[in-house]
Amino acid sequence: MDTVLVLLHAEAGGGVSNAGLEAVEAARRQGGPVVIGLVGTETDEAARAVSGAGRVLVVEGVAFAQARYATDAAAARALVSAAGAGIVIAPATSRWSRCLPGVAQRTGGRVDTHVSGFGEGSITRWYYRQRLEASLTRQERPWFVLLEAGSGPAYAGGGGDCEVERVHVDVSTRTAVKGMVSPQTGQQTIKPEAEMLFVAGAGWTKKQKDGAVHVQQAGELILGFLGASGASLGSSKSLVDLSGEGHAVLPFLSHLNQVGQTGATPRHAKGLATCCHGEEPHVVGWRFIQDRRAVNLDANCGWARGKADVLYVADAFAVMEEVNRLLGG
Ligand SMILES: Cc1cc2nc3c(=O)[nH]c(=O)nc-3n(C[C@H](O)[C@H](O)[C@H](O)COP(=O)(O)OP(=O)(O)OC[C@H]3O[C@@H](n4cnc5c(N)ncnc54)[C@H](O)[C@@H]3O)c2cc1C
Repeated sequence: MDTVLVLLHAEAGGGVSNAGLEAVEAARRQGGPVVIGLVGTETDEAARAVSGAGRVLVVEGVAFAQARYATDAAAARALVSAAGAGIVIAPATSRWSRCLPGVAQRTGGRVDTHVSGFGEGSITRWYYRQRLEASLTRQERPWFVLLEAGSGPAYAGGGGDCEVERVHVDVSTRTAVKGMVSPQTGQQTIKPEAEMLFVAGAGWTKKQKDGAVHVQQAGELILGFLGASGASLGSSKSLVDLSGEGHAVLPFLSHLNQVGQTGATPRHAKGLATCCHGEEPHVVGWRFIQDRRAVNLDANCGWARGKADVLYVADAFAVMEEVNRLLGG
């Protein structure tokens, strides 16, 4: 049976992300030997989080603090070789997604991205914007699998002491990381691990019954709800496109918030759409949201046509004001 290596970065706060623990659990359920490969400046806390899951190899050093193709690829390659891995699983973070296809090429292996399930030597993934699901396996080794967050349960057996084996990597790079630029102005609104998705549509910026727009009030209501509920913020394309056109809109939204055919397909347990019409190109991004609700003034909007479990035909300004009051926000 193949040895499965799970590649993880130690997070800035010290531990392992939930997506990383999901990858560990997926590897464990395979039933064969599991090796965890940790990369970071300091990996002690991360090692505790995965204790009990298998043999732990670490690549440590300041060079591995920042996302950088050359150093991440060198660390991954050294860990694959030290583990003697046939299958390599990593959470589909931007960092691993960027370097692992190159590592697969260098090691003569193969890579599959956007994988939504792994078990019994095969993977599942979606094609054509989540309209077709395929199950596939590969003969080539090492086989790299980038697992999407939220695809399965997270490993919960850690917390104990953990013996680690250090792997030395010669670092050679001409790329210096000078800093980070975040596309979000203000607070972090995209939270893949939140239980709930809150979607804001273009209606928040449209003229309301008094004939005026109330963008500032809309922003306060949305941020108030996000703060009180911990929900992740999604948007319709129309709303984020408005900001690109320079209109007065909600400053905390960017294209990264967009849900839909040309946006994201998040995996929260619940979703609430507000001032969003519920057109097919938007709702296709809700494929994995289990409990769907919407607030819209229009009883004939897209959500009413079988796309939401519950549609509240109401003014979202009034509804969210009351919801925030009840939440104490
Ligand atoms: C190729 C293609 C790809 C696309 N990809 C995407 C995509 O990835 N994601 C996406 O979102 N869209 C996408 N679209 C666009 C999509 O078809 C819709 O145009 C878009 O989703 C509409 O956004 P909206 O519902 O926010 O705005 P609108 O259609 O303007 O709807 C606003 C809604 O707000 C409601 N409203 C207004 N005021 C209130 C209030 N006070 N209370 C309650 N409700 C109120 C109105 O009744 C209305 O239903 C795509 C389109 C194409 C052609």
